Amino acid sequence: MYDSEPLSGLPVGSRAVVAEIRADTAEQRRLAELGVLKGAEIKIKIRGTGGSPIAFAVHGVTLALRSSDCDRIFVRPLTHEKTYLLAGNPNVGKSTVFNALTGLHQHTGNWCGKTVAGAEGWFQHRGERIRLTDTPGTYSVDAETAEEAVTAQMLREIPHDLVICVCDATCPVRGIALAIELLSAGEHVILCMNLIDEAKKKRIIPNLDAMSERLGIPVIGVTAKKKRTLIPLLDAAADTVPSAPFFHGLSHADALQIASGICKETVIMPVNPHQRDDRLDRLLTGAAYRYPVMLFLLLLVFWLTMVGANYPSELLTALFSRICTLLHHAAAGVHCPQWLSGALIDGMLRGTGWVISVMLPPMAIFFPMFTLLEDIGILPRIAFNLDSRCAKCRACGKQALTMTMGFGCNAVGVTECRIIGSKREQLIAILTNALVPCNGRFPALLAIITVFFAGDDVFSSFRSALLMTCLILLSVSMTFAASALLGRTVLRGQPSSFILELPPYRKPQIGALIIRSILDRTVFVLGRAVITAAPVSLLIWILANISISGQTMLQLLADFLQPFGKMIGLDGVMLLAFILGLPANEIVLPVALTAYLGQTALTDYDSLGSLHALLTAHGWTQLTAACFLIFTLFHSPCATTLLTVYQETGSRRWTFAAFLLPTVIGILFCTLITGIAYLL
Ligand code: GDP
Repeated sequence: MYDSEPLSGLPVGSRAVVAEIRADTAEQRRLAELGVLKGAEIKIKIRGTGGSPIAFAVHGVTLALRSSDCDRIFVRPLTHEKTYLLAGNPNVGKSTVFNALTGLHQHTGNWCGKTVAGAEGWFQHRGERIRLTDTPGTYSVDAETAEEAVTAQMLREIPHDLVICVCDATCPVRGIALAIELLSAGEHVILCMNLIDEAKKKRIIPNLDAMSERLGIPVIGVTAKKKRTLIPLLDAAADTVPSAPFFHGLSHADALQIASGICKETVIMPVNPHQRDDRLDRLLTGAAYRYPVMLFLLLLVFWLTMVGANYPSELLTALFSRICTLLHHAAAGVHCPQWLSGALIDGMLRGTGWVISVMLPPMAIFFPMFTLLEDIGILPRIAFNLDSRCAKCRACGKQALTMTMGFGCNAVGVTECRIIGSKREQLIAILTNALVPCNGRFPALLAIITVFFAGDDVFSSFRSALLMTCLILLSVSMTFAASALLGRTVLRGQPSSFILELPPYRKPQIGALIIRSILDRTVFVLGRAVITAAPVSLLIWILANISISGQTMLQLLADFLQPFGKMIGLDGVMLLAFILGLPANEIVLPVALTAYLGQTALTDYDSLGSLHALLTAHGWTQLTAACFLIFTLFHSPCATTLLTVYQETGSRRWTFAAFLLPTVIGILFCTLITGIAYLL
């Protein structure tokens, strides 16, 4: 806490918050009318001769008062920025509180362990600028896991004024225990009892005043989803003064005993508050239904993506086509050299436009649905269901979570592997993550499935979704097989214990869901794709335009790769496309189409029918299409993912292994399919 001082003593340029006005009621009222009241932020602008009068800005206007009048206004100078640390068990709403206060978009989601690093933001309260630091979830101040170690380090190393301990009102014992531990470690703490809305629904009634009395600190009930409920918390944080704590030198076990005693006395709990969750758990994790339900969900997500994405994709393709035509006219109008307009419009813009039109619509549907599953609390149940398989492969059940993250983006999946405690199992998860197709690969998979295998009757979108589901199942099975191989060879060892909390099922926060899936995921992935597509499109254009002895460089390279391409059921052009697609997987198909057409730019196909015609004209059969699908599933991770693997493992050897593993699987698989097909 910082002492207040008279306003008259502040130098020009300094900022302060009004703390107290020691004037008679009439003067206080007059000042309040002018905006000078407790909590208002002011800035000293000018001082008259001899220091009086003093002009200061308040609420956007400038007021002048005599120095003697300013003596009665006590302010807290804003020289020191306060720092609050948010701590709490995993999945209690810390990031939701953090986001609501700072306006930032820290990842929130209904599962434990998603926040693996800290985050920092700022907000204003009563005119004071406050720095807020979000910490990874922890159960105790003794660091057991990597996340807990990060939190313990942050508590030690970040100078802070206050710890806001966030606690889940529906099961408060562990949160209160953490608060007690923090207090007994000498921290200045207030308890934020979050999820009051859920507690109410479950008829759990905490007596916050009684709790506050027992703990000796303010206990404030909030619903972090509703920002306004956080104001009393901030008021309490600003008003509270550190006092001698009731607790000293307690261990985690002691704190838990004490906490459960406090809860028994201060919380009214119904007999079974989690009845609904138990029922849903029987459906999603019970032996009878779990696999059919998971399959159904997967199928549903893909079907909705397929059905929803087609039309907007076509619209966007048409839009970019039109923009290119208009720009060509404009370029001709200003006599722009053809090589320049070709490179920029047909090269960069058309290529980038293709990536956007094909990627954006499925992502805009797939990501929100994925986030919805995450918010409801289904992801940890998937990890639960898959754990026994993971254990058989000497891997960890949490790998199922990193795998599902990989569907969005393999680089994100690789980073998420930090939630796996054992280094050995973490490496298995990192090396196998790219075996599940990321979002960048979905469009090509969808397009080829649609034109070669779906047919064109009323069931075509259902058939496409079914095939897509089969491909996903294949990639998941391959992940298990590769994990088993690694776990029994280079990364030998026994599976570690599996501890994962099954969070309560929660109603998703639609606003946050849209922001997170559109801004964090869609825009992030699309932005990366566009940034990569633009220079690669330009490179393709150059390769397609430089000829040596009558053949373009693109064609020469493709011819060189032809024998190897044939071996894996593809051709030189496709192989070249896969190599050039290393920066971003999403450009593989456009690169191939450009080379086939012998056009001078990355091309778009205006209808799926013409895509089919183009590919079959270049010798594609269903076998080629099948090999393409398999090789799209299993080939080198993109450059960003490889870089992330390097960052996470710090080893070139493991990064090379991450490149080699899926590539070798893809080559073997495709060669096998081709071989069998020729034999038959
Ligand atoms: P953290 O792991 O502690 O950072 O927790 P998050 O902020 O990610 O929140 C965990 C889950 O609880 C998310 O699904 C949030 O949407 C949800 N959540 C957070 N606060 C509230 C709340 O006040 N009410 C409800 N109903 N859900 C909340």
